[in-house]
Amino acid sequence: MALQVVQPRIRGFVSVSAHPEGCAANVRLQVATARAGLEATRAAGRLGTTVVIGSSAGYGLASTLSACFGLDAPVLGVCFERPAEGDRTATAGWYNLAEAHRLARSEGRHLETINADAYQEATKDAVIEALRDRYLDASGAAGIPADGKVDLLIYSLAAPRRFAPDGTRWESVLKPIGRRFTGKTIDLRNVTVTEASLEAATDEEIAATIKVMGGEDWARWVERLQEADLLAPGFRTVAYSYVGPQVTHDIYRTGTIGRAKAHLEATAAQITRQLAPLEGEAVISVNKGVVTQASAAIPGVSLYISLLTRVMKARGTDESVIEQIVRLFRDHIGPGAAPRLDEGGHIRLDDRELDPAVQAEVNALWDILTTGNLQQHADIEGYQRTFAALFGFGIDGVDYDAPTETDRPLE
Ligand code: NAD
Repeated sequence: MALQVVQPRIRGFVSVSAHPEGCAANVRLQVATARAGLEATRAAGRLGTTVVIGSSAGYGLASTLSACFGLDAPVLGVCFERPAEGDRTATAGWYNLAEAHRLARSEGRHLETINADAYQEATKDAVIEALRDRYLDASGAAGIPADGKVDLLIYSLAAPRRFAPDGTRWESVLKPIGRRFTGKTIDLRNVTVTEASLEAATDEEIAATIKVMGGEDWARWVERLQEADLLAPGFRTVAYSYVGPQVTHDIYRTGTIGRAKAHLEATAAQITRQLAPLEGEAVISVNKGVVTQASAAIPGVSLYISLLTRVMKARGTDESVIEQIVRLFRDHIGPGAAPRLDEGGHIRLDDRELDPAVQAEVNALWDILTTGNLQQHADIEGYQRTFAALFGFGIDGVDYDAPTETDRPLE
């Protein structure tokens, strides 16, 4: 037992504390959205075993909850989170999954998590072992509705670094390529529009970012599972990418992270070739810009998202993380659906974000934005609320003055 009153402790782009009850409430809200939004899809057929890499937060958590609770699939997730230790709370991702596990158990669903570094071969071994031991044989564990081989692998990793087996360390950096970047950004500590200035990346930094956030590890996951004969006929794998608006291109799409995303996208074709014997496919889903721990760290992106949210809310087209993923399963990859691709071969969940009329409005606001008119034009309050909610703070109905159990199991 470790009861304590938990307060937010913001350090830069993260809160180093997370509220277990707030995270749990968030998960229950997402589960409710997934169940309601996927009712017709669930009726159309059954999704088999689903593996999610990066399952504890953001788009990967929404994918885990949609597959498990929205589509009744047995789910095995991989994430890299920290449990509580002494008076230090666990990370938000840990508490998210603690609640997802509790709910799944109470409803007789099969959800397991391997909390380990996804890049390591030992983690892939552990996933293969779990799939063999507990997902292949429906009669293996009493009451577990396992469906056998893997139907779907979602790759939703957002990692700052990767270690090679020999200890070599690659760091993912957010830098422009070719020339220095200077552009508007927001300082959320005092809610001011400031200027971010970043020097151009070196060739080593570009290569390291591709190692971390490119497609090499995605391909390796599929290769390992295919070698282990754990992929079902018609297996599909989906990785998440981002394109974003003109105003963030220099730092995102044409920067180091954009290079990594281009590599990830190119890897889809290579994986699809590997999957030919199974008539399987690898697909990229280009998702909308949303507030997550990963996106909060990118200069300019928080400012852009707070403008975008205001513009899209006014048009009634804004979507949360879980709404995006419900749409992904409903319209593209769930039972009864087939991916609808753009001319580049990608699923485009960012279609409403990149609607020319939305972008024209965002661009016009971007040009005139100053600290003085920030609150008027951008949804700063919404951004801050969503950011706090990532760590379980500011959620309706949660008593933040009450001591809460911080030591929660992931079982
Ligand atoms: P996030 O920070 O919310 O979640 C990242 C996940 O990766 C967590 O589950 C974390 O535990 C896991 N993780 C990190 N390092 C790991 C490691 N070494 N081993 C195992 N797990 C690890 O991120 P997100 O914003 O949801 O991003 C997920 C994917 O979606 C990324 O590829 C991102 O580029 C893409 N995407 C994000 C946005 C956005 O606006 N946030 C938009 C489009 C696409």
